[in-house]
Amino acid sequence: MTNAAAATPQRPRVVVVGAGWAGLGATHHLAQQGYEVTLLEAGAHPGGLVAGWETAGKSVEAGIHGFWYPYRNIFALTDRLALQPFTPYTRSAQYSPQGLEVESPLFQAEPYLPSPLGTFVYTDFKRLPLADLLSALPLLHAVVDFDNSPEAWQYYDRISARELFRQYGVSDRLYRDAFEPMLLVGLFAPGEQCSAAAALGMLYYFILAHQPDFDVRWCRGTVGAEIFRPWTQAIEAAGGTILPHHRVTAVIADEGGDRITAVMCGEERFEADAVIFAVGITGLKKIVASSPTLRQRAAFRDVQNLGAVDVLATRLWFDRKVSVPLPSNACFGFHATTGWTFFDLNALHDAYRDAPGSVIEVDYYHANQLLPLADGEILPLVQQDLAGCIPAFGEARIVDAHVVRLPQAVSHFAPGSYRYLLPRHTPFQNLFMAGDWITNRHGSWSQEKAYVTGLEAANAVVELCHQGQPADILPVIPDEPHLQWARSLNQSVKACLRGLGLLASF
Ligand SMILES: Cc1cc2nc3c(=O)[nH]c(=O)nc-3n(C[C@H](O)[C@H](O)[C@H](O)COP(=O)(O)OP(=O)(O)OC[C@H]3O[C@@H](n4cnc5c(N)ncnc54)[C@H](O)[C@@H]3O)c2cc1C
Repeated sequence: MTNAAAATPQRPRVVVVGAGWAGLGATHHLAQQGYEVTLLEAGAHPGGLVAGWETAGKSVEAGIHGFWYPYRNIFALTDRLALQPFTPYTRSAQYSPQGLEVESPLFQAEPYLPSPLGTFVYTDFKRLPLADLLSALPLLHAVVDFDNSPEAWQYYDRISARELFRQYGVSDRLYRDAFEPMLLVGLFAPGEQCSAAAALGMLYYFILAHQPDFDVRWCRGTVGAEIFRPWTQAIEAAGGTILPHHRVTAVIADEGGDRITAVMCGEERFEADAVIFAVGITGLKKIVASSPTLRQRAAFRDVQNLGAVDVLATRLWFDRKVSVPLPSNACFGFHATTGWTFFDLNALHDAYRDAPGSVIEVDYYHANQLLPLADGEILPLVQQDLAGCIPAFGEARIVDAHVVRLPQAVSHFAPGSYRYLLPRHTPFQNLFMAGDWITNRHGSWSQEKAYVTGLEAANAVVELCHQGQPADILPVIPDEPHLQWARSLNQSVKACLRGLGLLASF
């Protein structure tokens, strides 16, 4: 039996820090397993980057969040909570300043083709010449070679996504019109600032692994109201304690220095047998800076080498209904290094279905240059961008708007960052990490990954304290047989080359 379990045979005390998908996932499971769990959240609302709230009776969110087809663990959770928060799967479009560029079908409704054929055959590229599309073919080698192992991450993380696409001969046009928009929306940064490893992992999970993977659905209201409110009620009913407005500043270790005994919020102290940090990169950097115990460990000091990306979320209420063909839309070519999306909330949110005017969410990723602007300066730029896609927005009048600035908010998977990302286990035997930037082998991304890492951290606590059962974690849908075959052929060829001394690394 471990020290932690021996010291507290009845109910081990667990402190979870950060109430996003990761922290809530860990808290829920441990509360259900009989742990005394306290979830400390710096902000006013649970949900982290997905938090939503109301101002003057109108819903606001830190950006709209999609739930992709492979989010099996999140869908299993909402089923267990008996919630029906989602819209049906929706189709989506892409715009450039030249107009509509791409329309995506519902891939699950099309005849199934071996992956990734369906992605290329069924996507309706309005202007992209076939020759450009075909220039993606050699890239399939990298897709097969990148198997999400630590070795693959180390190897591909040395170069940027832009460099990878160039090395594999992807045409400039295909890169500009298809891949860079996906990077800006999926990894929140332009290709030259994205790790090639992250690009391959993200593209495979969301687009290439199985035909329906790119199908997405949305919440019928804010994720806060539709999922987090009932979820936090379930957590509290299971005995968990959620404390908003509690910003963690430090941790205290025992005399040996390798076990955390307490978590500090300023002067307030929370005793702990185990601790889970489920904060983002920026949050952890601040905690490390103010915590002598963490500062002493190189792994935590090194987190200062990681970065995060600025995001801007705006919600606009117009005086009239403007017809928007598809509810979710990604846009590229409007700003050199900023991607943006817009969503027709009249189509997605029950509350706005019968609103007299259009309610449109416009979110900007890698929005560094926009954040310092005042709301009154931002809104005309947003309206101009919208009118660049759908001209009728230029004629409509904004009658109300909310602007949410999210500085240094989302994880930045920069080239060379992999070595500084933290795994679940830390140098402290009872301190575990969770969040969408933690290294793990599951293969998921974004909200699903955050939730999965929360469950994985909870399972590490169960293993440490020997109380309760581990959470069931659904693996990602397995590779299709021909991809499994291609991966194993690739491994065999590489083993041969290595044997002949013709291949040195990965
Ligand atoms: C605009 C936008 C759009 C996005 N779109 C999508 C999408 O469509 N689909 C998708 O799957 N993902 C999307 N994402 C990404 C998704 O939001 C994240 O992957 C996910 O929410 C990360 O969850 P997390 O639990 O790891 O971290 P977070 O949500 O960042 O939660 C961390 C929590 O820790 C708290 N915290 C930080 N420091 C402290 C401290 N010292 N003490 C206590 N608490 C602290 C924070 O307040 C926060 O609540 C989007 C993100 C943004 C910003």
